[in-house]
Amino acid sequence: MAHFLLRYGEIALKGQNQHFFLEALVRNIRRAVADLGPAQVHAAFGRIIATSDADPTTVTDRLRKVFGVVSFSPVHVVAPTQDEITRAAIDAVERSVDTQPHAVTFKVDTRRADKRFPLTSMDTSREVGAAILQRFPHLHARMKEPDVRVQIDIRDHAYVSTETIPGPGGLPVGTGGKALALVSGGIDSPVAAWLGARRGLTVIPVHFHSFPFTSERSKEKVLDLCRVLAEYTGPLRVWIVFFTEIQRAVQLTVPDALRIVVMRRMMLRLADQIAGQEHAQALLTGESLGQVASQTIESIAAINAVTQLPVLRPLVGTDKTEIVARAEAIGTYDISIRPYEDCCSLFLPAHPRTQPTLEEADAAERGLAMPALIAEAIARSERLTIVPRWAAQAVGSAAG
Ligand code: ATP
Ligand code: MG
Repeated sequence: MAHFLLRYGEIALKGQNQHFFLEALVRNIRRAVADLGPAQVHAAFGRIIATSDADPTTVTDRLRKVFGVVSFSPVHVVAPTQDEITRAAIDAVERSVDTQPHAVTFKVDTRRADKRFPLTSMDTSREVGAAILQRFPHLHARMKEPDVRVQIDIRDHAYVSTETIPGPGGLPVGTGGKALALVSGGIDSPVAAWLGARRGLTVIPVHFHSFPFTSERSKEKVLDLCRVLAEYTGPLRVWIVFFTEIQRAVQLTVPDALRIVVMRRMMLRLADQIAGQEHAQALLTGESLGQVASQTIESIAAINAVTQLPVLRPLVGTDKTEIVARAEAIGTYDISIRPYEDCCSLFLPAHPRTQPTLEEADAAERGLAMPALIAEAIARSERLTIVPRWAAQAVGSAAG
């Protein structure tokens, strides 16, 4: 039976709404460990306590991925008495020095949320510190960067730990509305979707697929990316949109230099319609500024003009190296760099217009049978439910 004490940050500032955020966080933590067997999760005294029979390493891996968790600690839970706390602290230090034999310094931090406990935080730290010194004569106390930090939280019970593991921060998924996330197989868009979800959005990934110009493998790649995202968000609804006819029509009727911007506009038009069906309030893309021709401010303006919905671009101010580092940290990078054909790079013109005007974009689209193309693409889309990698494989159904 392993216990964990979880800390949340921003939610504590939510005033009247705190309850709503906290309930969502508890629910999301329960869901993250649900398949591991019986678990209890509840909020208490400004923290969340989770208890599970499952392997603690596995539980730890799951908790690391719950948005809203700032940090957490595996804890010994004991009665809030000095004796019990001291005994638990010595056990915890014993385990710590076993795993880090070179540890020579330690520190005890006590927080006392339950003021009924007779000793003050300072007194508790001092008493526990003295007991540790006696039991481990080779250790000495050090306030700054100690090798072993014993944390004692005195609440309904006493929680004793020597380890603090960072969570992803952010807000619980499901507390921030719903957005369609345009996900290519590239490095950027999965990171953008992850960042949106970390701010509490329910994201619905949408991928534009141009079979046979792009292969089944490129679709699998996107679904694999979604499986990684689902480890953070829980099961995801995913749309694979039939983009082949649009791609073909664009190639036939749109001047070379404007193909990319028109292709992007078509993507946003489709996403706008799907958002209507899904009751999503925003679109989200992996665009940054200045990376490529289609990401100049002029191109973004021309692309943006086809939808009334807010288009969120979480990566707008980031450098590629930062995006790559984030992709590696969240686990999407290795999938994103698998070779595949991007539906747009396939038709990449030699000299794309970097500063298209709205009028140019509109004019370039005159040869497209707009409503029919859009209706067909949506009708022939696939809708899937994607679950985390650790759960079963995708359960799919064609859109009817
Ligand atoms: P990424 O690494 O996400 O592909 P990128 O830097 O290659 O981004 P672009 O190719 O300009 O950027 O695409 C801009 C954005 O348009 C992507 O981040 C993504 O949100 C969306 N997008 C592009 N192609 C597709 C596609 N086939 N399906 C869904 N969304 C796409
Ligand atoms: Mg791309």
